[in-house]
Amino acid sequence: MQDKCAVCGIEGRKLFDTISNFRFLRLCSRCAFQEHATLIEKPTEEQIRKANTAYSVYERLAKAAGFEIKHNQLRKKKPKKLKFLQTLKKRLMRKSQIQET
Ligand SMILES: [Zn+2]
Repeated sequence: MQDKCAVCGIEGRKLFDTISNFRFLRLCSRCAFQEHATLIEKPTEEQIRKANTAYSVYERLAKAAGFEIKHNQLRKKKPKKLKFLQTLKKRLMRKSQIQET
C-alpha cells in the first residue's frame, strides 16, 4: 500500500486507515479531520474486554427482570427481540396486577 495521504499526498507522516464517503482511504491526521473521516481501528484487548463487560451488564439487567437469556438469543434479529419486549411487558403487567390485589 502507498505510504502517502490519499488526499494531500503528503509522505512520511503517520497515516490512518479511514472510511470517508464509503471509500477506504489512508489519510494523514489533518486530512482525516478535514474529511470528517471515520477512523478504522483494530480493537485493542481493552476495548474487547469493555465490550464484553457491557454485554454482561445487559445480561445482568435482563436476569434482574426475571429472564434467563441464552447467548444465541441475543444475536437473533428483531422479531425475537420484539417478542422479548412483549414478554417483558406482560411480566411487568402481571406484576402490577399482583400489587393491586
Ligand atoms: Zn493529507
